Amino acid sequence: MNEPVVCDQPCTLCDATEARLLSLTDRDNRFLCTVVCIRCGLIRSDPLPREEQLRAFYSTKYRKEYKGISVPKGKHLYSDARTAMRRFRFLAPLL
Ligand SMILES: [Zn+2]
Repeated sequence: MNEPVVCDQPCTLCDATEARLLSLTDRDNRFLCTVVCIRCGLIRSDPLPREEQLRAFYSTKYRKEYKGISVPKGKHLYSDARTAMRRFRFLAPLL
């Protein structure tokens, strides 16, 4: 396995700054640095996008880039809501 690298930002779970590089591109071959934390195993982008970048991407580009549509289908909203509720019930005791 490759040598650990020092990340731009510490791990969001354990604050470790060392990780191993997994990839430098996303599924469309655009630059995206993906690392795995050497302490806890969290896989994440490094650096993480800022809040305003995430908001802009998910409100304007995400659905078009990953689903090929600009308005969600009803069945997808229903399925996503069920998934969100399942995750909430799983995580609620931990929060
Ligand atoms: Zn970690």
